[in-house]
Order: sequence, then C-alpha cells, then structure tokens
Amino acid sequence: MNERRASTDLDQFHWIMDMLQSVDVGLVVLDAGYRIRLWNGFMENHSGMTPDEVRGESLFELFPEVPEAWFRRKADGVFLLRNRAFTIWEQRPYLFRFRNYRPITGTAQHMYQNITLMPLVSPDGRVGHICLQVYDVTEAAVSRGALERANDRLEVLSRTDSLTGLLNRGAWEEAVAEEFRRYQRTGQVASLVMFDIDHFKHVNDTHGHPAGDAVIRQVAAVLRENTRQTDIGGRYGGEEFAVVLIDTDGEHARVFAERLRTQVEAAVAQHEGERLQVTISLGIAPLGPGIGGHAQWIEHADAGLYASKRGGRNRYTLYRP
Ligand code: GH3
Ligand code: MG
Ligand code: MG
Repeated sequence: MNERRASTDLDQFHWIMDMLQSVDVGLVVLDAGYRIRLWNGFMENHSGMTPDEVRGESLFELFPEVPEAWFRRKADGVFLLRNRAFTIWEQRPYLFRFRNYRPITGTAQHMYQNITLMPLVSPDGRVGHICLQVYDVTEAAVSRGALERANDRLEVLSRTDSLTGLLNRGAWEEAVAEEFRRYQRTGQVASLVMFDIDHFKHVNDTHGHPAGDAVIRQVAAVLRENTRQTDIGGRYGGEEFAVVLIDTDGEHARVFAERLRTQVEAAVAQHEGERLQVTISLGIAPLGPGIGGHAQWIEHADAGLYASKRGGRNRYTLYRP
C-alpha cells in the first residue's frame, strides 16, 4: 500500500517536471544571490543555453541586458515582502533579449515579454528563492503597434488636403498658432506667405473643373519644391495657399516669394493634352512686435495678398502696418 502511494507521488513528480519543462512559458528559479537554480525548456530553446550551462551562474553576468539595479529593486521586494511583482511589455519590452522567430509576427526583432516574479517559500517559512515567469506577448504587442500605426495614418489623413497633400486649413491654422506661441517664447522670427491663383475662375470656365484641379495640384507641387522640411505649407481655401517660413525674416521671405512667383509662372500643368499656365499673387507678413496673435498674423499676410491683386496681380507685397 505504502509502496504504491510512493510510486504514485514519484510519478506525479515526473509529470509535473515534464510539464514545467515543456510549458510555453519561461520558468527560472533564482536564489538570493541571483544565481540561476532552475531553467526550463522554454528558456533553453530561446536562449540557446542548456540548464547545465546556466545552473549556479549569476543572472546579471549571463544576461547583461537585464538592468541589474532595477531588477534588484523589484526582486528585493519579492524576497522581503513575499509579494508578487510584475512588469509588462509596455513598461519594458523585454527582460531577456530573445529573438522573435514567429512567422506571423515577423515584423518584431525581439520577443516582447510580460514578467512575473513570484516568491518561493521554503518549509521553514523563509523566501530563499524567487521564480521568474516569462510570457511571450509578441503577438499582442505587434498587433497593438500595427493599430497605433493605422491610427497615426488616419490622423495624418484627417489633417491633409486630399487634392494637394498639403495640410488642410484646420491643421494649417493649428500649426500657425503653435508657431506663434513659439515666437512669443523664443522671439525667433518667421514669415507667413499667402497666395492665390490669378483669374482662376477663367481656368475653370474655359477648361473645366478637372483642369482647374490639375492646376491646383501643379501649384502645390511648386510650393513643395520650394519649401524646407520645417516650413509649414497648407491649402487655405479653394485656390488659395499659405506657408509659414520658419527662421525667415521679411527680406528672405521676399526672395522666397519672388522665386515662387516666377516658378509658378513658368510651370505648365497638363490636363487631357491641354497645357495650362497660371500666375499667383502673394502677400508676406513677417512676425514682429505689432502682431497680437496668430489670427492677426494671417490677416496681415491676407492684406498683403489683397494689395497684390489690386496692384495688378502676378506680384508679391510685403505687408507694412
Ligand atoms: P482673382 O485673380 O481675383 O483671384 O480671381 P479668381 O478668378 O481666382 O477669383 P476667385 O478667387 O473668386 O475664384 C476662385 C475660383 O476657384 C472659384 C471656385 O469655383 C474655384 N475653386 C475653388 N476650389 C476649387 C477646386 O478645388 N477645384 C477647382 N477646379 N476650382 C475651385
Ligand atoms: Mg484667385
Ligand atoms: Mg481666391
């Protein structure tokens, strides 16, 4: 009877060991000196190190990617207070740098991990060891990343004018307000240029609306070619555009405006075999002490634009208060 019981206990012990060995979770037992005492199959497969190689070795020496001070702080709490501790991939993507080789989540370089630290109480009631459980959460992390990237794209789309790829009016105005606040903090100069296509109704009336669209796209392309990465270009209205030139005073903005004017004049938009050419009128407003807010800054540039129209079109005007 006793013998049968003993053999059953032994069987159970082997079964449990088999299960620990093959479970799809990393299991590591550490002693109080952070030396490895147990290392299951998951850990062996992903690290390439066998239990014989790691047993008795220091965790921090074998795995320099484990941040020692941080890990000790977490683990000390487990030893002393006998509480579990956790870390999730959002806080720290991984503890052990294992390669990710799951085909569906092939976009991730490394395995994302959630970690649990669990106290192991010995028969005398002390916590002489802790157990690390390492969960592979790469799939969840990668699909979250994909979702966030999709949301970023949506956010970009909602800020972009679909015809030209420039910022739409709302997004552009936000950026102008931000630039104005920056000016108030730092005093760093910038200039605003607004421009409008001359006699655009005529293009629509004689060549049709789609031809007009081709012209708008062409003008936007010329604008993009002439601005720097940091400049903020937007489509302000139907055939009206605006750009904030960062770090640019009135004199440099005039040079920019004249170059843009001549390049638009020279550019040819193609639509169904037709060649279309237009000119633009521009207004320039450099930032200065007389400007109380971003709306006023826009008004100044608009007033310059209006003066250019009145003055005969195909020209720029530097606004002077
Ligand atoms: P001005 O030189 O004074 O600017 O004359 P204009 O003919 O350009 O005058 P206005 O600004 O009043 O006319 C703009 C026209 O642009 C009116 C509108 O039908 C047209 N328009 C606005 N948005 C679009 C668009 O997205 N595509 C096309 N094809 N036309 C547009
Ligand atoms: Mg116009
Ligand atoms: Mg207009």
